[in-house]
Amino acid sequence: MASLWLDSRNAIETDPFEEGAEYDEVVVGAGLTGLTAALLFARAGRRVAVLEARRIGSVTTGNTTAKLTVLQGARLQEVRSHSYRSILEAYVEAQLEGQQWLMRYADDHGIPIQRRDAVSYATSEHGADVIDREYAIARDVDLPVELRKDAGLPFETSRALVLRDQAQFDPMDVLAALAADVRAHGGVIIEDVRVTGAKASKPAKVRTTRGEVLAGHVILATGIPILDRGLYFAKLQPRRSYGLAFDAPGPLPQGMYISVDSPSRTIRTAPGDGPEKLIVGGNGHVVGRAASPKALVDDLEDWTAEHFPGAVRTHAWSAQDYRTPHRVPFVGWLPRGLGRIYLATGYDKWGMTNAVACALTLASDILGGHMPWATTLHRRITTPAAMLSGAYMNAQVAAWYAKGYWKALTERLPEEAADEGQGIVGRDGLRPVARSTVAGVDCSLSAICPHQHGIVTWNDQELSWDCPLHGSRFGADGTLLEGPATVGLRPLE
Ligand SMILES: Cc1cc2nc3c(=O)[nH]c(=O)nc-3n(C[C@H](O)[C@H](O)[C@H](O)COP(=O)(O)OP(=O)(O)OC[C@H]3O[C@@H](n4cnc5c(N)ncnc54)[C@H](O)[C@@H]3O)c2cc1C
Repeated sequence: MASLWLDSRNAIETDPFEEGAEYDEVVVGAGLTGLTAALLFARAGRRVAVLEARRIGSVTTGNTTAKLTVLQGARLQEVRSHSYRSILEAYVEAQLEGQQWLMRYADDHGIPIQRRDAVSYATSEHGADVIDREYAIARDVDLPVELRKDAGLPFETSRALVLRDQAQFDPMDVLAALAADVRAHGGVIIEDVRVTGAKASKPAKVRTTRGEVLAGHVILATGIPILDRGLYFAKLQPRRSYGLAFDAPGPLPQGMYISVDSPSRTIRTAPGDGPEKLIVGGNGHVVGRAASPKALVDDLEDWTAEHFPGAVRTHAWSAQDYRTPHRVPFVGWLPRGLGRIYLATGYDKWGMTNAVACALTLASDILGGHMPWATTLHRRITTPAAMLSGAYMNAQVAAWYAKGYWKALTERLPEEAADEGQGIVGRDGLRPVARSTVAGVDCSLSAICPHQHGIVTWNDQELSWDCPLHGSRFGADGTLLEGPATVGLRPLE
């Protein structure tokens, strides 16, 4: 089901693809990172093209919860425990700059934005300790947070941390304005063109599903980078979570809330045609590793019914974002890209500020500029804690790789088709096969992800095949949806 933001949204005007065209910057991906970066380049008089595999906003930005805040759950202590104090300070400055840029942009372009207090809350004693630590760290970096017992939610909380006057919006309003602005500054935005590779020659050659284009610089704003140089896929953990919108009897709580306990819960409202909608999100997990995503959505709905009686679900959606071992985004030039290929990734569900901060960083790297916080973040040194976190991520990947092949090669694929809405993986001869039935269509595919050869698992909520290694996702017919893969699952006879 489409998100509240993408549902009934009119198509955004874009441009035709021109094979062989040469640009100063080719930005790959039309989410918040790509369009903000493209605008910064276009404003500087550069010839810019944005190449988008699907539609503007169709992956994470159009499926976010769009809370624009510097108070990000327990993020500050996560950054601090995986990095040095100077990195934490630079991270906070980056968040403030990203937030201010976006707020100013919204004000200047008449984009509706609601000022709201951001609230991190706990319901357990352990969570209260987390909040206390976040309070101390936030105060230490001069964020004017306030500690409270009551979060102002219709259930009991053990502690709450408040940062006033943050913001929320409809992310598609922002993307539509950025896209129009890029085009008004002479840039082009092309949808339905997937980049499949890039050669760091001078100019760089960008291979796409519709032919080649040339670029002075290539910016990978694709969520997880689609080129394997630098092995970023092995340094990122793809994490998926769920969003639900409800018609709910008011009055509704007016903050933007996120729990620090597990399972996570995020709550905000959104203006609608009539009364405000209630948005509830959470139940995140590593992509492809939940036994039943549908059960997680049902659980969120039950939780909402318990705490907001009378709420009626109108939308359910999900999306993924990428976590780095040190909890700070990766941004800058790609190794072996000869200074011509750049990337930005790893926002870990705090991309409204981070995407803009990374776009500002990329523009400053390429056009020249000086932002002390960006220099500090570029010079980040990996700490033992971050190394441990990365090693753990990769041990889990190895375990899922083995688990996938064990299942695929020891369980025989049943003769009969899967039940409607279900997918099964099993062995057919020596081939691992993924077989699903969706809308009555029985489809058999290779179960091997074309990226790093993991065995895909069935997502019973999205009716998709998801790779538990690095987060590539495919439709029931094998079409590539998102992630580091650049081609779909191979169909079988
Ligand atoms: C459920 C959820 C809730 C969130 N809530 C918040 C929140 O409240 N506040 C907050 O700050 N952050 C939040 N985030 C994080 C935030 O939404 C993301 O970090 C941000 O939207 C990422 O933007 P992006 O431009 O990097 O990626 P995307 O929006 O995913 O854009 C990448 C684009 O690249 C395209 N692409 C990929 N591969 C190719 C290719 N080969 N060729 C061409 N195009 C390609 C994709 O189709 C896609 O459109 C949330 C994330 C999730 C998952």
